[in-house]
Amino acid sequence: MNRYSRQQLVPVIGVEGQEKLRDAKVLVIGAGGLGAPVLLYLAAAGVGTIGVADGDRIEVSNLQRQVLYRTCDAGRKKVDVAIEALKALNPDVDLRCYPQYVTPRDAGVLVHDYDIVVSASDSFAAKLMINDACVCEAVPCVHGGVSGIDGQIMTTLPGTACYRCAFNFTSRDASAVENFAQTGTLGPAAGVAGTLQAAEVMKYVCGYGTLLTDRILLFDLSESGFHTLPVMKREDCSCCR
Ligand SMILES: [Zn+2]
Repeated sequence: MNRYSRQQLVPVIGVEGQEKLRDAKVLVIGAGGLGAPVLLYLAAAGVGTIGVADGDRIEVSNLQRQVLYRTCDAGRKKVDVAIEALKALNPDVDLRCYPQYVTPRDAGVLVHDYDIVVSASDSFAAKLMINDACVCEAVPCVHGGVSGIDGQIMTTLPGTACYRCAFNFTSRDASAVENFAQTGTLGPAAGVAGTLQAAEVMKYVCGYGTLLTDRILLFDLSESGFHTLPVMKREDCSCCR
């Protein structure tokens, strides 16, 4: 009770919201720049079950934005260090570790076990794959992306516009877009995007506010500008139609 006392004082959370968080199962795919703040905030908030999926190892060049990790962690698997850090933060969380890159073959089975998924990968191909798996399995998903000083957040529920609808990307062949990822990223931009994703999860789990469904939030940290654009469900979407 003491751990969560400040959070429970927030009217939209209260004791009831705290119990919903305790009962929630959230899968975070990608334990990098977006995943780090998502995982830290969700574990700190008392989400009862958190899955962490990532096949990558920590590099020193990650540390400028992936705030879960320390210099001495370089070379270790991200999921291993993430689990240790989150256990130390909140021992009451049931942490599940998937030390692998999620593939189209196993994505559906993986997301099916969770109430909501956070798409926190840095590859556009992986984002599309996670979208497809979540639409197919009817699992809500909070998508996040960051590039340079810009970011985007969008939440999908069964029946709402999907991530492909937002980007008008109809090809099933995600490898066609693999060149997207090679841009720099400002650490705080990843932090803002990941923090907003964690906030979306808390909204969904506790049932307050208005989710970022059928719209996408865009931010630009050069002007500190935030705005949302409507996203229409596309008749010709290869995924959700
Ligand atoms: Zn769609």
